[in-house]
Amino acid sequence: MRKPLIVGNWKMNTTLADAIVLTTQIKNAAEDLEADIVLCPPFTWLVPLNDLLEHAPENLFLGAQNMWFAEKGPMTGEISPLMLKDLVEYVILGHSERRFHFGESNALINDKIHAALAHGIKPILCVSELKKMQDEKRGRGRPTEAVLRSDIFQQIKMGLKGVAEKDIAKITIAFEPVWAISTTPGTKGAASGVYAANVMSRLKSYIEEKYGVEQAADVTMLYGGSVDAGNVAEFLYQPEIDGVLVGGASLKASEFLKMCNIAGGPD
Ligand code: PEP
Repeated sequence: MRKPLIVGNWKMNTTLADAIVLTTQIKNAAEDLEADIVLCPPFTWLVPLNDLLEHAPENLFLGAQNMWFAEKGPMTGEISPLMLKDLVEYVILGHSERRFHFGESNALINDKIHAALAHGIKPILCVSELKKMQDEKRGRGRPTEAVLRSDIFQQIKMGLKGVAEKDIAKITIAFEPVWAISTTPGTKGAASGVYAANVMSRLKSYIEEKYGVEQAADVTMLYGGSVDAGNVAEFLYQPEIDGVLVGGASLKASEFLKMCNIAGGPD
């Protein structure tokens, strides 16, 4: 089994002091964990945290929460792959909050994916559904026509457009149902592990059809949406799920480390 990948998306939270405390606690614990951990703080903390992680365990990485695709230019408020490439290993692209609040299109996200790959930054492509796509009883496997026309398949199809076979293993896909994200008004909490695995097996089938089974096996698949220490095992137990993308619960070191321990602690 692949080493689980646990990604913490801090969103627009933390002061510099919070960020240093949180990162230090995770750094001190990471070495003993059989999991890869990615911390995605706000842009402003990337430089000090990169310094702090200079001699960090090799399974602890930084990621950015977003990025523009051009290297430089008249893009007020944006940040480029050139600015990030020496600071981060990963970048989250196409998060549902970017799609919703900033109107990011699949075409723009695809440009960002190509820019990340060109600069040696591993993209975490978020695909998100607004409503439940299927009920839990429906089988796994090859996506049906209706499923292929759904938003989430448009997101993966257009997000991966033009991505070469040699690059596909560098991509991580995060399935994040908007209805399960902790800050979505009226959310009833996380998807079930079975539901997430069903959708994710269909996403994987799409990648297999496009790139081949062997290549698709190297694509890391994450679930995100109200994951915490109490439910993380339910997701990691599913063979289709390689790790989790965590928002709210990544902001408390004790909760986040509990999750990392469940994912990659000693048996
Ligand atoms: C997210 O928005 O990426 C997310 C997973 O948030 P939360 O864990 O808070 O639901």
